[in-house]
Amino acid sequence: MSVKVKLTAWITALLLVLVAASLLFLMSVTSTVVTENAANQLETTVRSNLTAVSQAEDGTLSMGEGFSFVRSGVYTLLYNESGALLAGQPPLDSPDNVAFENGSLRTDYAADGDAYYILDFWLPFGWDDGLWVRGLMQVPESTGVTEDLLEISLVLLLLMVAVGGVGAYVVVRSAFRPLGKIVSAAESIGEGRDLSRRIGLKPGRDEVSRLATAFDSMFARLEQSFEAEKQFTSDASHELRTPIAVILAQCAEASHHDTPEEHRQDIAVIDRQARKMQALVQQLLQMTRLEQGTQRATFEEADLSELVSVLCEEQPGLPEGTTLHTDIQPDVTAVFDVMLLSRLLQNLMNNAIRYGRKNGNIWVTLRRMDGEILLSVRDDGIGIAPDRLDKIFTRFYQADPSRSGSNGTGLGLTMVRQIAHLHSGEVTVESAEGKGSCFTLRFPATLTATLEEK
Ligand code: ADP
Repeated sequence: MSVKVKLTAWITALLLVLVAASLLFLMSVTSTVVTENAANQLETTVRSNLTAVSQAEDGTLSMGEGFSFVRSGVYTLLYNESGALLAGQPPLDSPDNVAFENGSLRTDYAADGDAYYILDFWLPFGWDDGLWVRGLMQVPESTGVTEDLLEISLVLLLLMVAVGGVGAYVVVRSAFRPLGKIVSAAESIGEGRDLSRRIGLKPGRDEVSRLATAFDSMFARLEQSFEAEKQFTSDASHELRTPIAVILAQCAEASHHDTPEEHRQDIAVIDRQARKMQALVQQLLQMTRLEQGTQRATFEEADLSELVSVLCEEQPGLPEGTTLHTDIQPDVTAVFDVMLLSRLLQNLMNNAIRYGRKNGNIWVTLRRMDGEILLSVRDDGIGIAPDRLDKIFTRFYQADPSRSGSNGTGLGLTMVRQIAHLHSGEVTVESAEGKGSCFTLRFPATLTATLEEK
């Protein structure tokens, strides 16, 4: 049974219970009112008859005006002190031999089970003589009135239950409609059909909208993660194929070589290719982790001037003859991920060294301008041809693979751009072939909303 039907059934059942309870209450109130009215009627009639009874001097009883033995269902009977009926006719099958009790209203039952109200009054005449005036009235069956009432109320209340049930179904159905969307989106993603599918509900504050938004962001993360994994698998299998083939070919060739010199050369080739594979796998893993979100960027406010100075001072791969010029504005603080920005700067410096001139220069500049950080690495190396400038940030693109060396993978600048985007920033390049290149990173110094989300 669907939740919709269950909820509607529950609400309707609850309505039915409420309606039944109100009917019972109505019936009990009605029957109380009816019986109370009867008891009042009995008392009023008996009391009015009482005042009309008198005894003449000769001892005979006289019933004055206003006395009546039977009025409005009330029977008035007169008994002497010892309980013998003097006047009046009790109704057929009424309870008899009921002991007298002055002034108290009781209920007694006739042989056929009918209930009667009995009310006695002792009417004294003289010192020790008197008579009992008894009022007798059949307890009215309230069912007549209540039956009518019950019929009307039953129809009305059942109508209310029906309307309430239909209303409940409509409300529940409209409340559950978005859940249907969530289910179908989750199902189609679960079956692996369409990872780009989203629920796409309008954002709202109610639980279902929030659930849908949470699901959508989860789906986005899932898609991103699957895409990154797919990319990794295809990149790794594609890019590792060449070095593996070279290593295998070199091994085959080495088996025909005899001299130590030839073996040394074979080992050097294998070593180069193995290092290339190591660098490639390392960079691919780093990028995939960032794309998948398994490595989260941790942003903190830190002294960027100090970080850049330390990285420049401790530059291990700087060739002899190359001069590193630094122009670092002191005390530039910003919100950034220390590890990622270090990796970015290292990649730019590696490229400046790799594609730099012999005995050339490298300039590293750090500035803060209008709330923006500008970090640039410039070299006076080989430069990049204008038609290649827009390609260098593409995965695995290498303008001149022979210049990139064994550690070049064509992934360095892709990662630089990825890190810049994580900091809500951008990397730009200016280059002149044969003169040099300048890569500049710009990103906001303060933590922005987008940055917080990342
Ligand atoms: P690689 O591992 O080959 O250096 P990158 O992604 O870092 O890969 O760079 C991509 C390509 O861009 C390089 O192969 C090179 O052709 C070019 N390039 C990058 N930096 C420079 C630079 N400073 N000067 C000249 N060319 C560069």
